[in-house]
Amino acid sequence: MAWMKEMPANPVVAVAGATGAVGQEFLRVLHDVDFPASEVRALASARSAGKKVPFAGCGLVPAGDLVVQEMTPTAFEGVDIALFSAGGSVSKEMRDAVVAAGAVMIDNSSAFRMDEDVPLVVPEVNPKDVAWHSGVIANPNCSTIQMVVALKPLYDLSPIKRVVVSTYQAASGAGAPAMAELYDQTRAFLDGTPEDELVIDAFAHRISFNCIPHIDVFLDDGSTKEEWKMVVETKKIMGDEDIQVSATCVRVPVLRCHGEAINVEFADEVTVDAARTALEAAPGVVVMDDTNNKVYPMPGLLAGTDGTFIGRLRQDPTVPHGIAFWNVADQIRKGAALNAVQIAQLLLP
Ligand code: NAP
Repeated sequence: MAWMKEMPANPVVAVAGATGAVGQEFLRVLHDVDFPASEVRALASARSAGKKVPFAGCGLVPAGDLVVQEMTPTAFEGVDIALFSAGGSVSKEMRDAVVAAGAVMIDNSSAFRMDEDVPLVVPEVNPKDVAWHSGVIANPNCSTIQMVVALKPLYDLSPIKRVVVSTYQAASGAGAPAMAELYDQTRAFLDGTPEDELVIDAFAHRISFNCIPHIDVFLDDGSTKEEWKMVVETKKIMGDEDIQVSATCVRVPVLRCHGEAINVEFADEVTVDAARTALEAAPGVVVMDDTNNKVYPMPGLLAGTDGTFIGRLRQDPTVPHGIAFWNVADQIRKGAALNAVQIAQLLLP
């Protein structure tokens, strides 16, 4: 059953996971878009209760530190929009309390993404799906978001039969501690710390000076859950069960911004020029493609940006109607906080 409660013009917003990589970005994005909140509540674990997080203000909320409150079921009383980035188990634990409080949960974890009563939304692709939520809207996986933002304008030229994608995923995709691990481990490695004394916690192996083809857990078919998410989430967001997606997800020693090498096979002919024109006109997409001048998107130079950047656009001659390109986006912004706040904007009256 669709949600009946009306969203006030100046909602009370809770940021659940406010001390984390995505939570901190939520606070920055709320300010950047001047979200018309009447209150912003910072919630995290008991470990962080009482800590202060800086906030630049938005809507009716002035700039100033927010005091972190412990996330308990009662912390959501009076909340209209709860932006969640505290991991799947916390989302599952808090869902009933959030919905009972009359708030809409916009969840960054993978806990509910494939549930039938939960829309999975990328505002540039399927904004209308927010209409049928029943209290929870899921933010897709970060790698999927930046891919579908680019696929949508191409799909509008011709149905897409198959996508082959290889990801180059930043360390921060595993959270703030993982980003710190990349810094500290790189320093230790350069200082000559022996391999067996390096601190390896956030990833299965050393991430400094390495690439790890292993994100999330392995499944019975030999793929990883991260790769599976890209397959099933793409179909759900694009509303086309027939799109075939083959994904290989790799963690690389980059701080922020995922890169993706993408090959698309269309049902009908799509020229490189037509693809370029469609991408240039697409919301959220920035074409950065001038190889003569060495211009193409690079993760190291795009941290903190909002776009999905496309470069190296070319024909893929190995299939009848193929296009290949390179795609970069800041996965903490468009892949998480920004996309979720854009969903929240769709809920405003
Ligand atoms: P993170 O940096 O490790 O932050 C985790 C946050 O959750 C912290 O605020 C932490 O609070 C809070 N938290 C942890 N356990 C809690 C508990 N039991 N009760 C209440 N709060 C708790 O992780 P992150 O990267 O921001 O990711 C958070 C979620 O977003 C995950 O589901 C992740 O899959 C998803 N996501 C992340 C990215 C990304 O690029 N990083 C992208 C898309 C989606 P304390 O500081 O008090 O421990």
